[in-house]
Amino acid sequence: MNLINLKDENLFYIGGVVRDIILGNKSFDIDITYVGNAIEFAKTIPNAEIIKINEPFGTVKILIDNKEIDLASTRNEVYPKVGHLPQVTEIGCSLKKDVLRRDFTINTLAKSLKTGEIVDYLGGIEDIKNKIIRIIHDNSFIDDPTRIIRGLKFSVRFGFKLDEHTKDLQNEYLNNINYDMSYKRVKKELIETFNLNSQEAFERFFSENIYKLLTEKETIAPKYNIQNLVDKYPVKDIWLVYLGWMNLEKLPLTKRESKIISDYNYLKSQKLDDDYSIYSEFRNCEKESLLLYAINIDDKKVSKYFEELSKIKLNLTGKDLQEMGIKPSKEYSKCFEYILREKIKSPNINEKELAKKFFKL
Ligand code: ATP
Ligand code: MG
Repeated sequence: MNLINLKDENLFYIGGVVRDIILGNKSFDIDITYVGNAIEFAKTIPNAEIIKINEPFGTVKILIDNKEIDLASTRNEVYPKVGHLPQVTEIGCSLKKDVLRRDFTINTLAKSLKTGEIVDYLGGIEDIKNKIIRIIHDNSFIDDPTRIIRGLKFSVRFGFKLDEHTKDLQNEYLNNINYDMSYKRVKKELIETFNLNSQEAFERFFSENIYKLLTEKETIAPKYNIQNLVDKYPVKDIWLVYLGWMNLEKLPLTKRESKIISDYNYLKSQKLDDDYSIYSEFRNCEKESLLLYAINIDDKKVSKYFEELSKIKLNLTGKDLQEMGIKPSKEYSKCFEYILREKIKSPNINEKELAKKFFKL
């Protein structure tokens, strides 16, 4: 692997990217760390353009050979307020100190850009071999409970198991949650985990009580194969198809995400006892809301909508109405809606005849 042509002895691929090299997987993103101050180092690289500097974190984005690369300084961190963003205490610390702030041993490996040698302070290679997810110190989940969700994500993605002691500490934390945590970070991890579209992740999220990070209330998950449903009807916000039915009030949601949930709650309160009401209510809702309705209320109505009702289109156009001598007005759309309603009841109606009836011709 030769991603960039930088050969300084203080540069290392670090974290997930090295794990992925060993696993033979493609990396989502490439993290490179500089043992020392990466910002000062970046200024000395010939042909590199500095795009962005984040002084407090000691990170810098550079452009080199037309590639954007993020360089991080090795850094040490503490958690003055557990569950929230850590504070940087030292920039340019040793590589060992830098890896000690990370989540799991499998994510602590460093690979020299100069020699290709892998530095493994905490037994990460052995854990990858044995498919084990292991935290680095006993306070890990207390410092950052999002690591519990990350553990589930990596476990599902790679088919790895949580080490026993890690599992015990996870259970201990979940029995004694400090709800004052950064829900922005929790949300990010939930999105990454559930966008994998994995039934296993969904079932373990509940059977292992990880859902308790979101709500104090006992919650029972619907028994439904959501993975198959999403495979059949792909959507953008997969994670909300998995979780939108439960209490998510702690999470900061975007407008669209809130609409998905409120559309679903609205649909839940509707009777929808004939095809036209299914059609006219479903068509205004986000697709994710319909999948939530399928999982929790009635999947037959949803498949009927996707397979049949949503495909019903009128052949009649405004031009046809004009040719029939009807002047364009707001009545046009009322007429179309009237015909559509009739067509949903009986697909073989004569649209022109119905238009005539509507305009009393
Ligand atoms: P992915 O393939 O999903 O990107 P990754 O391991 O690269 O997996 P990132 O979220 O990109 O994960 O983070 C990069 C590295 O930063 C991780 O490998 C890990 O060493 C460290 N890291 C990320 N999040 C945390 C966290 N919450 N606590 C401690 N270390 C973390
Ligand atoms: Mg990554």
